[in-house]
Amino acid sequence: MLGSRYEKKKHMALNGGEGRAQYKPAKRSLGQNFLADANIARKIVDSLDIQPGDNVLEIGPGRGALTRHILNRRPGRFMVLEKDDDLAQALTAQYPSIELVAGDALAFPWQTLEPEAGWKIVGNLPYNIASPLIWDIVSQAALSAAVFMVQLEVGQRLKAPHGGKDYGALSVWVQSHARVELLFKVPPQVFHPQPKVTSAVMRFFLLPRQLDQDTAKALAATLRMCFQQRRKQLGTILKSKGIVGAEELLQGLGIQPAQRPETLEPERFQALSNRLGNQFGS
Ligand code: SAM
Repeated sequence: MLGSRYEKKKHMALNGGEGRAQYKPAKRSLGQNFLADANIARKIVDSLDIQPGDNVLEIGPGRGALTRHILNRRPGRFMVLEKDDDLAQALTAQYPSIELVAGDALAFPWQTLEPEAGWKIVGNLPYNIASPLIWDIVSQAALSAAVFMVQLEVGQRLKAPHGGKDYGALSVWVQSHARVELLFKVPPQVFHPQPKVTSAVMRFFLLPRQLDQDTAKALAATLRMCFQQRRKQLGTILKSKGIVGAEELLQGLGIQPAQRPETLEPERFQALSNRLGNQFGS
């Protein structure tokens, strides 16, 4: 609420005097494509199903397109991670109840989110960091749900089934940690400035059984090894790394040495990395 005349003046100055904010031009280096459609913003926030008192963390709030819809749902704690200092300060001046973490979301210590707090995480992610960020979040954050807007092509890779060209290390890793849904697509026209690509809104729920640290470490190493040479046969890849008894090892797991990495389901990759754990990558 803007009680005093002073507060009102301060608020108007911050927002350009006409109720519309005057911001610096969008920074391409920070992937700033701002969502300019309130219905889509509401739909994204709706898909996180925020109940009053839920703890929410938003990545890259920017000019607040999602932020105001989140606040309408009366979250408990509401934390935002924003790298652009000007935008972060304008946002917290407008919404003082928000907890700002100014800086790079890629450097955020996801393990520090308390599991019992049931954090819900949301963001219209900058395209250039979406894949590594989602990689870290699904494996390190004890989240209760997450909704992210990403480039459609990344969304397709995130939920790709084994056997196709979109299936890769990111698909296996994310599907080993979370159930992934593509909720809806978003056209470039609803952003300012417009990106060149279509976007997709994705939802994530962690799987009931999470990988322990050693298994996850071995899986990451196995994926790196296999998908760096995705056109080669698995037997050849393992032998090229000096793995003793590669063919027998694969056959013992029900994998043919002539299979290529993209044909293995996430569970088979986990089984393979468990076996390789002692010989490679751990
Ligand atoms: N949420 C706003 C919206 O929907 O209009 C802005 C989305 S814009 C695609 C991405 C936002 O992430 C920008 O505000 C940008 O400054 C911020 N950002 C970019 N890189 C970041 C990083 N490494 N860590 C945190 N925020 C970042």
